[in-house]
Amino acid sequence: MMNRRYPELPTSETDTDIAIVGGGLSGTLAACLLGRAGYRVTLIDRHRVFPQEFRVERIGGEAIEKLQRLQLFAPLSTAAVPFDEIVNMHKGHVVDRTYGQHYGFFYNRLVAAMRSALPETVNFVVGQVRGLRIGAAHQRISILGQDEITARLLVIATGMGDTLRRDLGILHRQISDRRPLAFGFNIRPLRSNRFRHTALTYHGDGDGIDHLNLFPVPGTTRANLFLFRDPRDPWVRSLHDDLKQMLTAAFPSLVDTFGDFEIGSRIDSWLTDITAADNCRQDGVVLIGDAYLTSCPASGLGVSRLLTDVERLCCTYVPQWMTETAIDHTKIAAYYDDPEKLDMDISSVQMTDRHFNLTTKTDVGWRLRRQFHFMRRRVLYGIESISPALATRLHQLKTIRARSALRSAVLNTKPMA
Ligand SMILES: Cc1cc2nc3c(=O)[nH]c(=O)nc-3n(C[C@H](O)[C@H](O)[C@H](O)COP(=O)(O)OP(=O)(O)OC[C@H]3O[C@@H](n4cnc5c(N)ncnc54)[C@H](O)[C@@H]3O)c2cc1C
Repeated sequence: MMNRRYPELPTSETDTDIAIVGGGLSGTLAACLLGRAGYRVTLIDRHRVFPQEFRVERIGGEAIEKLQRLQLFAPLSTAAVPFDEIVNMHKGHVVDRTYGQHYGFFYNRLVAAMRSALPETVNFVVGQVRGLRIGAAHQRISILGQDEITARLLVIATGMGDTLRRDLGILHRQISDRRPLAFGFNIRPLRSNRFRHTALTYHGDGDGIDHLNLFPVPGTTRANLFLFRDPRDPWVRSLHDDLKQMLTAAFPSLVDTFGDFEIGSRIDSWLTDITAADNCRQDGVVLIGDAYLTSCPASGLGVSRLLTDVERLCCTYVPQWMTETAIDHTKIAAYYDDPEKLDMDISSVQMTDRHFNLTTKTDVGWRLRRQFHFMRRRVLYGIESISPALATRLHQLKTIRARSALRSAVLNTKPMA
C-alpha cells in the first residue's frame, strides 16, 4: 500500500514532475497512485471520455487482490457487477464450479470510474500527443494544437499499436506467432427473464476454440469468445452471419445448462498481436501496460500484468528516481529488470503458448492431456461434493506442484530484451 507523502524534490523547471501519455487503465491507475503520493502529475489522453472499445471485461483473483492492495478497488466496485460462482463446461457436460470474487464490466466505464478517482492534484489534459523529445533531466511532450509540456519523467501508456513510440526508436517486436482472436457481445434470455446461472465458462476441445465466458455486466449478460483461428477461416466468418446458431453447434448443451438466449448487441471482435517493446531502455522515459507488452486475452493476465507494471513503477522506482536530478537509461533499466515484473512478463508470454497448445493441438499427446485435465477436474469436483476437506487437500497439493513447475519454467527462461 502507498503512504501519502510529499517528497522533497530537487528544484525543477519543468511544468510537471511526471507526464503520463495514455489514460486507459494503466495510465489512469499510475496517475492515481503518483498523484496520491504527492507528485505533480499530468495525464494526457486524446479522448475526454474513453470510447466503447473492446478490451478486458471480467477480472477476478490476483487482479482484484492487487487493486485492493493499491487501494484502487473502490472505483471497480462502482462500475462492475460482482459474481462469485462460475459453472465450467466441456464437451456437453458440467466439469466443476469455480468459486471466488469476480467482476464483470464494460472497459470504457471502468476507465471512467478510475478517472473519476484521480486526485485533484492530477492535471488531466485532453489532446493528441504528436511528438516526444527525451533526455535524462527533461522530457518535452508536444500536443496537437496546444503548448508543449515539460516533465522530469515521461510514462508511455498508449496501449497497443500507437505510432508515438516510433519517435523514440522504440519498436514493437512480435514475440509470438500466435494471434488470439476475441469476440464480445451481449446476450439476452429467451422465453424467461433470467439465465439459470450467473456465469459460465465453456472450454473448447482442440478445435481452435479456447473458451466462451458468459458473465454479468451492468444491465446485461456479456459473452467473450476466445479463439486461435484465422479470421479468414469460413467458420470464423460465419460467426458474424449467424452467431447464435454457430454457438449452439459448437457448445453442445449450452442452451440446456445456461438457458436459451438471443444476441443482444453488435459483435465486437479483436485480433491481438503478441508484441514487446524493443529499445525502450532510454533516458527519462518508461513504458507500462500494453505499450510495453501485450498479452493473450484468453489467458486473462492482461490486467494482472499491467498492475504489476504500475505497482513496481509507482511504489518502488519513481520514489527513487524523483530524488535524483537525472534519470538516465541505467536507472530506467532497473524497472524492466525488476524480478517481480520479469516473472509476470514471462508467465504472460508462456500462457499464450499454453493456451494455444491446449486449444489447437490435435495429436494423441495433447488429446490425452486435455482428456486427463478435464477428467481430473470432474473427479475432484465429485470428491468435493462428498468430502470438501479431502478436496481442499488435493487442491493444495495441485497448487504447490503447479507453482514449483512455473517457478522452474520462469528460471529457465531468458528475460526478454
Ligand atoms: C479483446 C480483448 C480482450 C481482453 N480480455 C482480457 C481479459 O479477459 N483479461 C485481462 O486481464 N486482460 C484482457 N485484455 C487485455 C487488457 O484489456 C489490456 O491489457 C489493457 O486494457 C491495456 O490497458 P492500457 O492502459 O495499457 O491500454 P489502453 O486501455 O489501450 O489505453 C491506451 C490509451 O492511450 C491513449 N493514447 C494512445 N495514443 C495516444 C496519443 N498519441 N496521445 C494521447 N493519448 C493516446 C488512448 O486514447 C487510450 O486511452 C483484453 C484485451 C483485448 C484487446
